[in-house]
Amino acid sequence: MEVRKVYLDHSATTPVAEEVFGAMAPYFTEAMGNPNSLHQWGREARRAVDEGRESVASLIGAGAAEIVFTGSGSAADNLAIKGAAYADKSGRKHIITSAVEHHAIMDTFKWLGKMGYDATFLPVDEFGMVSPDVLRNAIRDDTLIVSVMHANNEVGSINPIEELGAICRERGALFHTDAVQTAGHVPIDVSKLPVDMLTMSAHKMYGPKGIGALYIRRGIKLVPIVHGGGQEYGIRSGTENTPGIVGFGAAARLAERLREEGEEERISRIRDKLLDGIIERIPDSFVTGHRTKRLPFHCSVCVKLIEGEGMLLRMDYAGIGVSSGSACTSGSLEPSHVLLAMGLDHATAHGSVRLTLGKGTTEEDIDYVLEKFPPIVETLRKMSPYKGG
Ligand SMILES: *Cc1c(COP(=O)(O)O)cnc(C)c1O
Repeated sequence: MEVRKVYLDHSATTPVAEEVFGAMAPYFTEAMGNPNSLHQWGREARRAVDEGRESVASLIGAGAAEIVFTGSGSAADNLAIKGAAYADKSGRKHIITSAVEHHAIMDTFKWLGKMGYDATFLPVDEFGMVSPDVLRNAIRDDTLIVSVMHANNEVGSINPIEELGAICRERGALFHTDAVQTAGHVPIDVSKLPVDMLTMSAHKMYGPKGIGALYIRRGIKLVPIVHGGGQEYGIRSGTENTPGIVGFGAAARLAERLREEGEEERISRIRDKLLDGIIERIPDSFVTGHRTKRLPFHCSVCVKLIEGEGMLLRMDYAGIGVSSGSACTSGSLEPSHVLLAMGLDHATAHGSVRLTLGKGTTEEDIDYVLEKFPPIVETLRKMSPYKGG
């Protein structure tokens, strides 16, 4: 019997959509020109880069000149924070982020902390969200930049970035948001949001890996991290990744089409079925993150007195790809900083599982997972000292 394969790790990466792949293909071969060349090959590549930029900009209501392409979402996060910090001439040294950011932000803030900046890591509530009051109390006259992620990759909660951004505006601090998990999945309109910079990554929205984008509101000056030929308005040198940019543009157009087709409603409906089904069928399990202010494709739970890695491997054996909250970094099993910041104890945090759906996920896939998951937990619990309760 063939094992069914169900990939439920779309927060880690998504497959490149067929149409995205098709759009990219020619730019590896016959249309391989350098966009900076003046001949016909170069001009053709330049047109493609311009079109990709237009599509990515239009996805979030930005102008094309406000989009800078980078080598990844991580690179865009680094550029936003370091670029703004180094560009400051007012002598402000206070920088604020949250305790649950992606490592691309987290470690950038820690690094700047070592370089003489005063870094504040805001605490979060039990859903992993930053409350506007917490920011209001932490922000100072010398706060240079605040970075709070739009939605959390581990627990799916969506932050009130409109309110957070408004506080920054009021106090004259720059506001950046890492929107890698939301871009292409929930509506974003920077023409209405008080956001100065916003990070996106193509491979989280059916585009290719290795291409990210930073939205930089008109008038904001950044110091480049990569110096060189002056591409991307001088902010990110390096020959443009033409196929990557074309793929990002195609992914942005696909996202708009999926929205019109009601994909958000479809996916959140089967996600709810999965989430409710797990909580119902597995005793001593609970949802992590906010139940409703949540990414539509995101399901995350904690199964008490179970070890997430063991669960992950047994799920994998059943053909189901999920992720566990504990990242096995350099051999030591540290529970996720996100779950700990939400107030979970180490043992409970170890039982976290994240199942993230995609446009290819069907209701039958969900039924299959609901059939396989509970007995796996039961088996693991029989092997552990868990006695219920
Ligand atoms: C994946 C991810 C990133 C990093 O993007 P890459 O393109 O993989 O570097 C940054 N932030 C969040 C929230 C992410 O989920």
